[in-house]
Amino acid sequence: MKTLMRKFNKTPAPPKASKEEKDDFFIKDLFLMATADARELPPTLEHESLAAAGLGLRCDIQFRSNGSPKHVLRVFKRTFPRLHEIDKFYICTKMQGISRQLTMQHYTPPAARLLKRLAGKMIVLVPLKKGIVYDLSEEMVDCDICEEAVPITLWASHIDSCTEKIHRPRKRKTY
Ligand SMILES: [Zn+2]
Repeated sequence: MKTLMRKFNKTPAPPKASKEEKDDFFIKDLFLMATADARELPPTLEHESLAAAGLGLRCDIQFRSNGSPKHVLRVFKRTFPRLHEIDKFYICTKMQGISRQLTMQHYTPPAARLLKRLAGKMIVLVPLKKGIVYDLSEEMVDCDICEEAVPITLWASHIDSCTEKIHRPRKRKTY
């Protein structure tokens, strides 16, 4: 388990910001819904508990501009390991402004260039037919950075905040 976690910690270094390479990536914010066939983003109040369940909002996720649908799916699954619990999901976008309404865009992960073209920065993944159970597992894992025991469902967001405390100033958007 320890070695696995150490491997997990090593996120690939961000691409060098050289001019030519810069255009080869783009970023989107991703949101994974719990409810099947949802038509609206949950209110901001719920986002924290969603994040605690390995769902909800993850910011600044990087995609290769020329990535295949497989690449896009891989990034989705890396961002949300809980996607493995469902067979299919819609790719939606949120309407501009305060409306929480979602617009269905694709039934399967599109190629990156199509994803990039979708309006706005936030992409919402909505389970199709079968939702994701919104409960917290009791299982704990040890964080290699702060050495605290962390619930397994909180792991992904913990790694972010834990490394963020060390490396990055806090920047989080609300939707
Ligand atoms: Zn930690």
